[in-house]
Amino acid sequence: MKTLTKAEQQKISPQSAVEMLKRGNERFINNLKVNRNFLQQVDETADGQNPFAVIISCMDSRTSPELIFDQGLGDIFSIRIAGNVINEDILGSSEFGCKVVGAKVILVLGHTACGAVKGAIANVELGHLHFITHKIQRTIPGIKKAYPLINDHDLCQKVTVENVRKSIEDIKSQSSILADMVLKGEIKIVGAMYDVASGKVEFLDESPSSSLDYKTTTAEPVHA
Ligand SMILES: [Zn+2]
Repeated sequence: MKTLTKAEQQKISPQSAVEMLKRGNERFINNLKVNRNFLQQVDETADGQNPFAVIISCMDSRTSPELIFDQGLGDIFSIRIAGNVINEDILGSSEFGCKVVGAKVILVLGHTACGAVKGAIANVELGHLHFITHKIQRTIPGIKKAYPLINDHDLCQKVTVENVRKSIEDIKSQSSILADMVLKGEIKIVGAMYDVASGKVEFLDESPSSSLDYKTTTAEPVHA
């Protein structure tokens, strides 16, 4: 499979970019990975890159975006940080990816059994971790209010989904460049959840009212 040329990248619509990621994950979970010649891709990308997506995902070792979306060299900008939270550096990187290099979609990807989310729920304090956990903790009061009897596992799942939505809100409210590109239809910003037990990525409904209804079949107990 060849890497994208500038002309090919620019022909991709934001929705097509989302579909390309969905198809990549379908290949991944069916073990139908595209047979790539990475050395050839090194040659093809030596003079430049035209990635179609920016993926902001957790640093979790099980969630590598190039693997779970079956992408090659030069296909995606991969921004990784514990708990897929947003900060100024990540905003700047995303602005560069979309405004300067022409990526068509920003995907914020959360995942099941996220240690950063568990740490936020357990209020773990360690060194600089609070910069991350405090961002995730913004979601907890609303969920506990809506679901006073929620168990630990479901709380973890719902906080993870809401944290993805908060990150998307942060991008739109803090980056006028990216918010403007969304308004003009030049890019989409979408959220998704990766299930570490199945390898499947589930894209979140774009209507905020459905955000608390996300469920997975994972029954993993919560350990902070
Ligand atoms: Zn994580």
